Amino acid sequence: MLNINDPTLTFMTMQQEGFKNSNPDYVGRFAPSPTGPLHFGSLVSAVASYLDAKANKGKWLVRIEDIDPKREPAGSSDKILHQLEKHGLFSDEKIIYQSKRSEAYLSALEKLEQCGLLFFCHCSRKLLEANHGIHSYPCLPEISSMPASRRLLAEKNIVIEFRDIFQGQQKQSIKEEVGDMVLYRKDKLFAYQLAVVIDDNFQKITHVIRGCDLLKITPRQIYLQKLLTLKTPTYGHIPIAINQKREKLSKQNLAASLDSRPAPKNLVRAINWLGLSVPDELSKTNHCSDLLMWAAGHWDNNKVPRLKEKTAS
Ligand code: GLU
Repeated sequence: MLNINDPTLTFMTMQQEGFKNSNPDYVGRFAPSPTGPLHFGSLVSAVASYLDAKANKGKWLVRIEDIDPKREPAGSSDKILHQLEKHGLFSDEKIIYQSKRSEAYLSALEKLEQCGLLFFCHCSRKLLEANHGIHSYPCLPEISSMPASRRLLAEKNIVIEFRDIFQGQQKQSIKEEVGDMVLYRKDKLFAYQLAVVIDDNFQKITHVIRGCDLLKITPRQIYLQKLLTLKTPTYGHIPIAINQKREKLSKQNLAASLDSRPAPKNLVRAINWLGLSVPDELSKTNHCSDLLMWAAGHWDNNKVPRLKEKTAS
């Protein structure tokens, strides 16, 4: 536990009082898809979103994005929640599960339908390959009795621009660079793009801090927010953690499990990776809460590496 006579603690308390960006309306979140246990890369996203929220004196929420059952091994959600707790990361509100939110997604689809923005589509990925996977209405002439997806008609001349906290100004043309996106899949599942936008709004998320692998799809989320007249949060995309072979750490390349090291050690590594430098004394602590408190007090957006990817050595 914290030792009252510890000089680090005095420093920590002073830093806490001096939190630079107090913003009580701040609501951040970590929204894992339960496709397997957390690894270092996902821990870094969880920690970055947590620290940015706490440095602002805001709330931090956890949302389980379990909308694709075929990709979700049994028990993964519980495993992730257990791993978060072990690292001292607790949601400030009840955890929501996307698998329970179908009605909200359906009602958003109905709204878009009423505006005449949805259409049924049979085009296969293979068929769209020649156009880099981008669908441009009308559909390619392929007669199919296969189930259809529902796509959102990309309107012409829509350019989405936003300023990312870490990656700077971003710009994307919806028709040319995104095309008609799938909102309801052929396999009768809601698309991530739809669910994430509806739930960020439902949970009143003001700040989305996540990995750079999602930077390119942010404009389409903003586009959806605009069509559904929802507020757009502030976005910040941190570098993604890669291995020595320059592959994104993932369950597929068997990124070393977080469970092979004590949680405080994982946290020290994640906090340092994000640009802070945990003092030697503190890095020996067995208490995740000490580390998180120190890091929230020292969190500085300017120190987060301005990179799209960074090696996790
Ligand atoms: N569920 C997504 C994932 O695990 C992240 C979604 C988000 O942060 O917007 O990759």
